[in-house]
Amino acid sequence: MKRVRLIIFNAALGPLDYSVPDDMAVEYGSVVVAPLGPRQIIGIVWEEDRLPGESVAASKLRPIFELLPIPPLRAELRRLIEWTADYYCAPLAAVARMVLSSGGAMRGPTTMTEYRLSGSEPARMTPQRAVAMDALQGEQATIRELAELASVSDGVLRGLVNQGVLEPVEVNIDRAYPKAQADYDEPQLSDDQNTVASRIVDVVEAREFVPFLLDGVTGSGKTETYFEPVAAALRGNRQVLVLLPEIALTEAFLKRFESRFGAAPIVWHSSLKSTERRRAWRAIASGEAQVVVGARSALFLPYASLGLIIVDEAHEISFKQDEGVRYNARDVAVMRARFEKIPVVLASATPALESLQMAESGVYERLELPSRFGGATLPAITTLNLTQSPPERGRWLAPELVEALQDRLTKNEQSLLFLNRRGYAPLTLCRHCGHRFECPNCTAWLVEHRFTSRLACHHCGYDAVLPDACPDCGEADSLVACGPGVERIADEVKEILPEARIAVATSDTLNTPEKAAEFVAQAEGKAIDVIVGTQLVTKGFHFPDLTLVGVVDADLGLEGGDLRAAERTYQQIAQVAGRAGRGSKPGEVLIQTRHPEASVIAALEAGDRDAFYAAETEARRGAGAPPFGRWAAIIVSSEDENEAKEAARAIGGTRPNIRDVMILGPAPAPMALLRGRYRYRLLINARRSAQVQDIIRKWLDTLDFPRGVRVSVDIDPYSFV
Ligand SMILES: [Zn+2]
Ligand SMILES: [Zn+2]
Repeated sequence: MKRVRLIIFNAALGPLDYSVPDDMAVEYGSVVVAPLGPRQIIGIVWEEDRLPGESVAASKLRPIFELLPIPPLRAELRRLIEWTADYYCAPLAAVARMVLSSGGAMRGPTTMTEYRLSGSEPARMTPQRAVAMDALQGEQATIRELAELASVSDGVLRGLVNQGVLEPVEVNIDRAYPKAQADYDEPQLSDDQNTVASRIVDVVEAREFVPFLLDGVTGSGKTETYFEPVAAALRGNRQVLVLLPEIALTEAFLKRFESRFGAAPIVWHSSLKSTERRRAWRAIASGEAQVVVGARSALFLPYASLGLIIVDEAHEISFKQDEGVRYNARDVAVMRARFEKIPVVLASATPALESLQMAESGVYERLELPSRFGGATLPAITTLNLTQSPPERGRWLAPELVEALQDRLTKNEQSLLFLNRRGYAPLTLCRHCGHRFECPNCTAWLVEHRFTSRLACHHCGYDAVLPDACPDCGEADSLVACGPGVERIADEVKEILPEARIAVATSDTLNTPEKAAEFVAQAEGKAIDVIVGTQLVTKGFHFPDLTLVGVVDADLGLEGGDLRAAERTYQQIAQVAGRAGRGSKPGEVLIQTRHPEASVIAALEAGDRDAFYAAETEARRGAGAPPFGRWAAIIVSSEDENEAKEAARAIGGTRPNIRDVMILGPAPAPMALLRGRYRYRLLINARRSAQVQDIIRKWLDTLDFPRGVRVSVDIDPYSFV
């Protein structure tokens, strides 16, 4: 190869051609360093005929600098990158960057220097040094990572290195991982589980593309079931990817995996240390990594020989990325399996309507686990009509729910209260002048967090101390909290059951894998009587003595009015209900609502999932919504309000006129201000068969925008804010 075309890591530039020095052997997929102006840039050698580019005379081509010492990206992965960029209207370079997501993996020595406390004291102790030394007990990482951990500057730590307080440790970053063994501890499966497992095992062995929808009720043992095809892939020396929605909460999964296979899987998520990231990336690319458990970003890693993909809790909306490349990992996982010619399993107790429809139409093969494992029964579900049986003034739990909580505490059983609202109260206002605390960067109220005495924005991370007096009228002691968050519900439980041990489980309280593990251990050890939690507690947990689930406000999710509000409410409540009665004692679920007649609430109470999905399917069909029609969004934003408005108007003014394609807007987005940027939206609704992506590309290609304007396209959007 004398002349090559590269995808270069600059989203603003298209592919560029380079020449290859005589002593360098590159192939398609090779990752190289090339000159770009005075700089160096990373690029991937690509098939010329798949990337239209300007043809430059051979004499004018600049040579590639360097071939990086990693395996070339395989053709299957190159096709996935192309498909993702094309489908989601994203630059190829932006998608390719997700593959090469460990800079350290691509070059450099195989050892690196980390630091840890040596045990000696600095000659001069400063408050910052004391803070750092306290925070770094038992830690070992790079200077930058330690600085972040201790919240001090690099300089403070370098001072400690010079004094010998922090000592360097050479770490071999590519050391081998412990091996998982397919036969380590084979389980006793039920007949249903066996039937499902052997069907997938057959396809793993045959190495065919088959998309499975594993539809099993909560507590049916889906994980144990799909562990058998995982074992089959291990026996065939092929890699497995398991995608999980909340990687911070995988502790329980990791434990089950380790007891089944004798070694932990490789974990991939965004907060890995750079050494762990590099080690995992290289093991994945070399084929040494056997099983990778990860968040959605693990989907784009360069597996050497993938044999199976599992998407667990496949209905979860956290598989949809809402920034950068706006892809849905559940859908891309199916495409990856197709390119790799391997099976993919979408596992859920409450599948997405889109997935069910694919199963109905025969595109996905449906496998069912209709009953709970070990003879446990599904919980009884009752609605509590808050308009007929309201809580006491200033409280949020109805008398029946209070009674049930007391009953469980007497019996020494556990309860779980679910409210999908972090913090103490969603809104704080001044009772004297009516002032409401609003985020300066977003169209959102600030949420009071009483544990930390702060007001926080859940969209941009802004936070401030809760003042003693109103900042508007100056009146002291005039601020009131409106509505409940989980912290407030926990306070109420404390008043009702003073002797109960209560745990609040949210992304604020369980924000590290360690804290999550401690919570699980306490709940399993029955050191907790009542758990009050957000959507974080709706999935994965298995506490056999938990027999009561209370849904504090079932109507909350229905208020947003977005397309999937009813489906999401159904999934959340069915999932959290599924935490009850997983052991030998039967479970009970009490749902507080003001609208017991709403179809989603009625279906939950009747335990009639099919009725809910059937009604929802007809509603979607009528509205031309997915899976029957398609949505796409164009989001225009700028820090300058006028600039955003003008750009949105320019896009709106050049809208194409196409039959069966409806274009709504531009209109200010529901979140008209987000992280300091003013936002406008256009919404496109089209038939399933319409080439929405082509239409949008052609349309936007003709327009130019000022530098400060960002225009992003969201295909199959989940968020309408
Ligand atoms: Zn006031
Ligand atoms: Zn904000």
